[in-house]
Amino acid sequence: MNFENNLAFAQTLDQQDPLREMRNEYLFPQQNGKPFIYLCGNSLGLQPKVAREVLEKQLNNWQNLGVEGWFEGNSPWMFYHKELKKLMAPIVGAKPAEVCPMNTLTVNLHLLMVSFYQPKAKRFKIIMEAGAFPSDQYAIESQVRFHGFDPKDAIIEVKPREGEYTLRTEDIVKEIEGNAEEIALVLFGGINYFTGQWFDMPAITKAGHKAGAIVGFDLAHAAGNVPLQLHDWDVDFACWCSYKYQNAGPGGISGIFVHEKHFNTSMNRFAGWWGYNEEQRFKMEKGFIPEAGADGWQVSCTQVMPMALYHASLQLFEKAGFMDVLRAKSKTLTSYLFFIINQVNKELGDEQYKIITPQTEADRGAQVSIIAKANGKKIFDELVAHNVLGDWREPNVIRLSPVPMYNSFEDVYKTGSLLLTISQSII
Ligand SMILES: *Cc1c(COP(=O)(O)O)cnc(C)c1O
Repeated sequence: MNFENNLAFAQTLDQQDPLREMRNEYLFPQQNGKPFIYLCGNSLGLQPKVAREVLEKQLNNWQNLGVEGWFEGNSPWMFYHKELKKLMAPIVGAKPAEVCPMNTLTVNLHLLMVSFYQPKAKRFKIIMEAGAFPSDQYAIESQVRFHGFDPKDAIIEVKPREGEYTLRTEDIVKEIEGNAEEIALVLFGGINYFTGQWFDMPAITKAGHKAGAIVGFDLAHAAGNVPLQLHDWDVDFACWCSYKYQNAGPGGISGIFVHEKHFNTSMNRFAGWWGYNEEQRFKMEKGFIPEAGADGWQVSCTQVMPMALYHASLQLFEKAGFMDVLRAKSKTLTSYLFFIINQVNKELGDEQYKIITPQTEADRGAQVSIIAKANGKKIFDELVAHNVLGDWREPNVIRLSPVPMYNSFEDVYKTGSLLLTISQSII
């Protein structure tokens, strides 16, 4: 598409956008009585308007039913997670039995590694991306130590080439092939939080399996952002949080994926009563019998309030038409932001803003990470002061995420024109 850097053009794209009404389903934070242009859905998605109502409904259930709420009422808590599974499955390309909402993300990463990282004397290494989100680094290091290995020997980080910010698939595959005898687990982010790079998940999975390793993904920045096909790609396991692109609120519940080929294995797991076979759970007997599917990895009882929020949010994904519809808009919206930033650079007569997110559409989601040549933090603060809310990541990156669910082309255009004005006054 031939983009234009003017308001009328942006508004025309908004008029043609089949998802344009979806933003009315969300609440935009305000500053000085004016709503923010919110480009921070990669960090904390917006509150669906219906959120208050669904919480109220569960509070009423609790008030009116007390403990009976587990089996009575319009959505008995005992089976509540099943409603979510149906809606989570299309977000990540899974069968409903392969997904389950539970806990929070880093906790699930640990629980899944207990099952899927089974190091042996010779095959004990984990391959991951360098510069992964810190929580993942800590989780992986501590798992390695837990098994008596030294992270220095056991963790292989794939780094970008000199002078580059993102990884080349060929380098990832080469690293996997080069260590084929020793890798127990390939554990990557779906999309890197810093650069916004969407890794070639099918290629990584294939290479990992060829090497005889298990392959898992942390989808914190991918789930709800880009279309995924975890089942068809043959991914072994994955987990994600619901509060970034999936708008389920701060500390929102996490989701897990376990491929159905692992349902009947005698894999180790850290068990709890909620993972116990549903029919016999309340017999309270000795000896753990797991529920079939991803549900068998549950540990504690259903977190009803966070699940109610996630459920409400997922229903909006259903209303939007799920990931292919969102992705179609997202591609254009993000490309428009690329174009707009390049226009700002042109106006300034300098590459004041270096985009480190991949130029190729297939290698990115809704996030654009930029590095200012100078005064990055000051420029970011000015954007916020003028009602554009992206986020700042140390040491030097401004992340802007135009989210197809609730951002508009006008948001993107206005961000660009503000960025230009601010740059001209600061630099
Ligand atoms: C956001 C994010 C987390 C956060 O983990 P929580 O346990 O939800 O606090 C972890 N890993 C990645 C890759 C993330 O992007």
